[in-house]
Amino acid sequence: MTKIIDGKLVSQKILENIADEILFLEKKPSLAVIIVGEDPASKIYVNLKKKKATELGINSTVIEMHETTTEESLLNKIEELNNDEKTNAILVQLPLPKHINTTAVIEKINPKKDVDCFHPYNVGKIATNNKPYVYPCTPKGILSLLEYYDINPEGKKVVIIGRSNIVGRPIALMLLNKNATVTICHSKTKNLEEITQTADILIAAVGKTKLVTENMVKTGAVVIDVGMNRDENGKLCGDVDFSNVKEKVSFITPVPGGVGPMTICTLMHNTLELAKQQNAIN
Ligand code: NAD
Repeated sequence: MTKIIDGKLVSQKILENIADEILFLEKKPSLAVIIVGEDPASKIYVNLKKKKATELGINSTVIEMHETTTEESLLNKIEELNNDEKTNAILVQLPLPKHINTTAVIEKINPKKDVDCFHPYNVGKIATNNKPYVYPCTPKGILSLLEYYDINPEGKKVVIIGRSNIVGRPIALMLLNKNATVTICHSKTKNLEEITQTADILIAAVGKTKLVTENMVKTGAVVIDVGMNRDENGKLCGDVDFSNVKEKVSFITPVPGGVGPMTICTLMHNTLELAKQQNAIN
């Protein structure tokens, strides 16, 4: 029997624990989100983050900067937040306008306040199997789902489709650190199907509707669908042909309601973690 992994349920449980913990904190955690420009999708994400933070008792500030803001002013703003004792966590919403160097911006954030875990210091910690200040949101959300459903990646063959800095690469490293045998596939991979068929755990993070079809999946595999796409009717869907693949596998995440809710929940958890670290609370 296939189990549908319920990201809404798991995230709700984690969020309740976060809210309970914040209730007893003397100083409320504080998250600063910088958004540059008017990208509609980014605005929706930022508003969702602010709403969720407020619900949990996290102080959140959204700093809106004009599309034409210079890289220097953005770096200065980050410096200001780095030095502001009241700000525990800094998030710069991506993508940035083309004239701004994203790497320079990420590297400007104090690694101790790097709530997304994009700074090379924190990424390097994961790459060397050491602890970063916090783990990246979507990959950590995926690991929380696996843990909740008692799926231990140790010794398992994991295939990840996608090698982005946000999902594919960090989840590969984090699963390697959990003793999985990891293969990363990407746009230049040959014979994708042959590789995915060997996976005990298959993670799709590409952004292509129905890329993963039933013939690509081993019977009884665990399938994690990170994709967030629109189908021909404008409905939100993942990278996996859910209705056909689900007949063959042991566990599968739906879209929506799988990985998505875990990402924002982990962002809130990371904000709390950074606040506790900065206030020396265990
Ligand atoms: P990205 O565009 O940065 O990376 C896509 C990756 O897919 C690349 O590494 C590319 O090599 C690979 N790829 C492209 N075509 C391929 C093909 N035909 N076969 C194999 N590999 C191929 O994307 P991203 O930021 O990692 O996001 C991937 C998807 O996950 C998107 O749909 C995005 O919206 C979604 N996403 C969801 C969440 C969430 O919280 N649910 C978080 C982040 C990203």
